[in-house]
Amino acid sequence: MLPEHSEHTLLTPGPTPLHPHAQHALTRPMLGHMDPDVFALNREIQADLRTMYGATPDTFTALLAGTGSLGMEAGFANLVEPGDTVVVCANGSFGARMAEMAERYGAHVRTVTAPLGEPIDPEQVAAHLDGARMVAVVHGETSTGVLNPVPAIARLARESGALLTVDAVTTAGMEPFHAEAWGVDYAYTGAQKCLSAPPGVAPVMISDRAFDRFHARRERTPLWYCDFDGLRDYWERQSYHHTVPVNLHFALHAALRAALDEGLTTRRDRVRHLSGAIQATLAPLGFTPFVRDPAARLPTVLALRLPDGLDDAGVRRALRERHISITGGLGPTAGLIWRLGLMGEAARPAPYRTLMTALEDLLGAPGLRARFDDALAAVPA
Ligand SMILES: *Cc1c(COP(=O)(O)O)cnc(C)c1O
Repeated sequence: MLPEHSEHTLLTPGPTPLHPHAQHALTRPMLGHMDPDVFALNREIQADLRTMYGATPDTFTALLAGTGSLGMEAGFANLVEPGDTVVVCANGSFGARMAEMAERYGAHVRTVTAPLGEPIDPEQVAAHLDGARMVAVVHGETSTGVLNPVPAIARLARESGALLTVDAVTTAGMEPFHAEAWGVDYAYTGAQKCLSAPPGVAPVMISDRAFDRFHARRERTPLWYCDFDGLRDYWERQSYHHTVPVNLHFALHAALRAALDEGLTTRRDRVRHLSGAIQATLAPLGFTPFVRDPAARLPTVLALRLPDGLDDAGVRRALRERHISITGGLGPTAGLIWRLGLMGEAARPAPYRTLMTALEDLLGAPGLRARFDDALAAVPA
């Protein structure tokens, strides 16, 4: 049996604590996936997703019945044909996942990398574009806390005629995202990251250019479940394709509405304010930003290099015993950094106050929590 904790402080880079409206929406009684009320709800979700992605009012949006990785896979499955050249920006583990998926769908993958903790250099992308049909990039690389320069990469992709796929998992809904202005053709996220809805649906955005490419395929996509036309059958023509997870639609709808009601710029500012206060609080203990270039720091995943001698695994285990979850590094950054989640409902002062109180004790740092409160008051909101 899972122990019942009324309070668990979840500060990982996903999943994030549920928004109370999403939590409440999960208690709604079941409805059929073909019920007119569900179709009406879906239309509201589609409109709100266009706003979240900064897309034109006629851009197709939908939820896929899976997590963010399904959003990633569906893009390659529908838009890549065997033999296509795809440029994948891979400066972290999610970029590497993109490269692997593109390859499995038959692409010739050209990877553009960067040193650990550094962003992709658009010039490197430019040098690999010749003959490419798609450029794929992770906007905010969760594994290192790096924000990649999507607007510059988008401009290059546009000029070359390649489609642009953007992983918006750690950005859309929390950070500026302008699909139309930048020229993004396919974007996806996961419900459990910036939106603080339960995992299990992946909001996607598909441009007209992407649909044109999809319709020009020589053969149909091998991924029947997420076939773009199949999605249109359900989301536009209201005909049955597969049973959607209706309860997750309820919860996503509520969380997305709450995000737009709060305002995307308010959310962006909330993350920056809190991140500044956390850094100011922990800096005297020797925690420093892992990403050197301030412009390349992903605001929603704060990657902090640990002070020398800090017992990473031990401290995180002790935190877990107090029902506080934070995340360490991944692969080459294991033992080197912590990654503090500032997405959705994780980006609130209260859970971080809980963390500071616990660290005050575990790190022998009296006054940490008071310093956090002072920093919150000092950094202009
Ligand atoms: C979490 C994450 C994913 C994958 O999402 P899942 O929901 O775990 O499938 C993809 N890209 C980025 C940048 C992520 O942070």
